[in-house]
Amino acid sequence: MLTSVLDAIGHTPLIKLKRASELTGCTILGKAEFMNPGGSVKDRAALAIVEDAIARGALRPGGTIVEGTAGNTGIGLALVANALGYRTVIVIPDTQSQEKKDLLRMSGAELVEVPAKPYSDPGNYVRVSERLARRLAAEDANGAVWANQFDNVANRAGHERTTGPEIWEQTGGAVDGFVCAVGTGGTLAGVGLALKAKSAGVTIGIADPMGSALFNYYDGGELKASGSSITEGIGQGRITANLVGAPVDFACQVDDREALGIVFALAEEEGLLLGGSSGVNVAGAIRLAKHLGPGHTIATILCDSGARYASKLFDADFLRAKGLPVPPWLERGARISP
Ligand code: PMP
Repeated sequence: MLTSVLDAIGHTPLIKLKRASELTGCTILGKAEFMNPGGSVKDRAALAIVEDAIARGALRPGGTIVEGTAGNTGIGLALVANALGYRTVIVIPDTQSQEKKDLLRMSGAELVEVPAKPYSDPGNYVRVSERLARRLAAEDANGAVWANQFDNVANRAGHERTTGPEIWEQTGGAVDGFVCAVGTGGTLAGVGLALKAKSAGVTIGIADPMGSALFNYYDGGELKASGSSITEGIGQGRITANLVGAPVDFACQVDDREALGIVFALAEEEGLLLGGSSGVNVAGAIRLAKHLGPGHTIATILCDSGARYASKLFDADFLRAKGLPVPPWLERGARISP
């Protein structure tokens, strides 16, 4: 028996991905982070950040947690805050999926929607959340803290303490590589540091979506982006504090067509209904497997569920409007009459 929903965060299954493994002659494993109580890998960061704020004495009883998020961190923070008796204020770019915004409202988070702007613009959701946290800290008798997931290294420390060691234990230490995409970098850096501490020979890779600057940075030293992606929660234009010192050995770039092909195949053939970032991650794992050669074991992250993107990735009209292929099974509908 668990005494709180917070104890249900983490300890997620590690699932062998059949087609990716067959294709590469490697064992490709997906950590089922969509099975966390808040439905994503970000529950871990939310819990680690809140625990750290409490330990530092920054978050007082009845206080407010403020954050700028693409959604999943907010959902995790609201869950943790509700379980511990805090208030949550979330700033989200209006480009994010309706499903995530609905989940935030359903969780009781106070939602502030802002137009999507680059980080350099003071209207950017992260920058708005920082100012809001400062204002609420001054105005609210119980105080407020800014979770600051991008530059608060409690985020990556949470992954270093939990996600990385779990992967090591679940593979019996027989893991040769780990790959994932970056939003804050907490997962990549935390898992990377934990696995390297166990074995310096583990290859750590980044799978970067189009429109993100990190592939060019790790490949050639220059923070430079081109193109765009419909994936959410990933892509980064700067070296966040969580990314500083991340042990990255391998970098690849994954476009939406490749990522979505994998998302749809995993849903249709393996019963894994996932969001777009998981497709980027599995594509990255396949690239690293090809780079290392057959016989290796590579782990990646299955970040969240496809249910969170029903109105986008799994909507035929949306896909067509973006010029992306629509999988036939998505349009089969009710062909069998009752
Ligand atoms: N996938 C999804 C769906 C996410 O919401 C996030 C977090 N923004 C990530 C991947 C990336 O995780 P991290 O912030 O640890 O880099």
